[in-house]
Amino acid sequence: MSYFDVLDRIKPTGMQGHLREDILTADGPFPNVERQEASALVVDAGNRTVVTVPAEVPKEEAALDPDSFLTRLRGRLVGAEQANRNGQFWTTGDLVFGVGTVAGGPLNWLHQERRIVGALTEARLVEGGKQTAAEGWSLPHIEAEASMWSFLFPSETHIVREAAAMGKLFYSMECVSKNVECYGPNGCGNVVSYADATLRTERACEHIRAKASARRLINPVFQGAAIIVPPVQPGWANANVELVRKAGSNDKAMAFTDGDEALAAQILAFIQGPTSA
Ligand SMILES: [Zn+2]
Repeated sequence: MSYFDVLDRIKPTGMQGHLREDILTADGPFPNVERQEASALVVDAGNRTVVTVPAEVPKEEAALDPDSFLTRLRGRLVGAEQANRNGQFWTTGDLVFGVGTVAGGPLNWLHQERRIVGALTEARLVEGGKQTAAEGWSLPHIEAEASMWSFLFPSETHIVREAAAMGKLFYSMECVSKNVECYGPNGCGNVVSYADATLRTERACEHIRAKASARRLINPVFQGAAIIVPPVQPGWANANVELVRKAGSNDKAMAFTDGDEALAAQILAFIQGPTSA
């Protein structure tokens, strides 16, 4: 038997969940814990109360690494002021408009739109001009974080980890807009609908039909991202993605307790049990 709730998610690998009798007494080391029922544990955690109840879990549960359920990714999703190798272009203003449509979108596998392997969780516009020696990147771009559902897609997760280790893991954004402008040195400034530009109908100018100019997607709506691994190449060479280092248990306990350091330490001590001293 274990105790299955948010506390269990920060339980270190291999630790058996168990209820310590000494914390169930008013003068124990965990004074703000009281027994509600024979099998429930109530923790008064400041502005909220956490009730822990027993749950039957498989024996293998103790060997699972909680952090293995999600693989967290962070990378550059799309850049402004420079056309990508597919000839798509966004101004910085277009990315300002579109950045709010990124988070919450699907993360698919190699643009297979029905093979959704995770979700985009955060996005921010990174201003240009902050070039670093390591990255050498100075144009404005959208950086996005994603969580990949590793417990549902173990094979893809393995490939993602291998690709990340080789520095060959990329995002590819998926985007639509109402209108498209014929843009750049070979462009004429003509604006047509997204469908006309994409299907290269007669309403589109000769530059767009011949793919001779850049296509600016005006006021874009992002509809998700694809994970790109070799041998597929990303549309934007700078769209590299890294695995985000796992947060330690203490970080999670801190987040759980709204930064209350003493309470976080108490919770960790409880979860780790008497053998961890
Ligand atoms: Zn044109």
